[in-house]
Amino acid sequence: MKFAAYSLVAALVASTTAAFTTTGYFARPSTVLDARRPFISGNWKLNPQTRQEAVDLAKEISDAVTSDTPDADVALFVPYVFLETAMEAVDGKVQIGAEGVCPEMAGAFTGAVSASMLKSVGVSWALAGHSERRVIFGESDEYINGQCLKLIELGMSVMLCIGESELEYNQNLAGAVCAVQLKKGLAGISKDDMSRVVIAYEPVWAIGTGKVATPEIAESVHKKVRDILADIFDQETAEATRILYGGSVTPESVDELMAQPDIDGALVGGASLDAAKFGRIINFESV
Ligand code: PEP
Repeated sequence: MKFAAYSLVAALVASTTAAFTTTGYFARPSTVLDARRPFISGNWKLNPQTRQEAVDLAKEISDAVTSDTPDADVALFVPYVFLETAMEAVDGKVQIGAEGVCPEMAGAFTGAVSASMLKSVGVSWALAGHSERRVIFGESDEYINGQCLKLIELGMSVMLCIGESELEYNQNLAGAVCAVQLKKGLAGISKDDMSRVVIAYEPVWAIGTGKVATPEIAESVHKKVRDILADIFDQETAEATRILYGGSVTPESVDELMAQPDIDGALVGGASLDAAKFGRIINFESV
């Protein structure tokens, strides 16, 4: 029932502002409560394989956002080549973000895409620090920090992904790993900038494995992450920052995860490629 209170106060806030749309969030006044508005996001990774499949999937997902959908931000992080067509397909009902960005603005960086390129085609969000980028592509905390700083500098928003490996989890190092990744990833980001930063806690052992963290485990790390944010910034900033859970979220697990006090949303990989499954996740139910 976590969102019942939210909805009541949000309704009061909304009544004094323009009518709500999923994209309208970015024009809304910032209050602590508003800042923790639920956020359901999908990460398509290296999928789907054709433009037409991307259009069809984006359309089907946007159709799942209806007047009965919980008051939440919905976003899809998609491959660069599909950004513009996905934006057209969702017709403003879903935010479309990039799966990454180059911290450099121009020059000899073959294959890279800059923040200004993204901004020029109407993209305002990008992922940074996804474990697949850290592990497979060797992106360091310093590189990830550069991505965050560049996006913020250009007035854009970033979803910073953090999370421990299975070995680190077994060694009880989840909090310590998250602290390092947060402190390094957010270096140079101010308290005010944090209104454009969302954290996605994604235990590496749960990504793409079908091993979703239990709501209790996820909540306990989310609480730690919020404490770390309070340590880096202050309690108010920590309370206002959205922390999403990612790692094998499904229609079966979303409701209980979303009921946890420190879980503000989800970053969904595999299930975001199935419109029926992702549609159910977008339409999570309060338990
Ligand atoms: C992800 O890629 O961020 C992710 C959480 O993937 P999955 O949901 O498939 O575990």
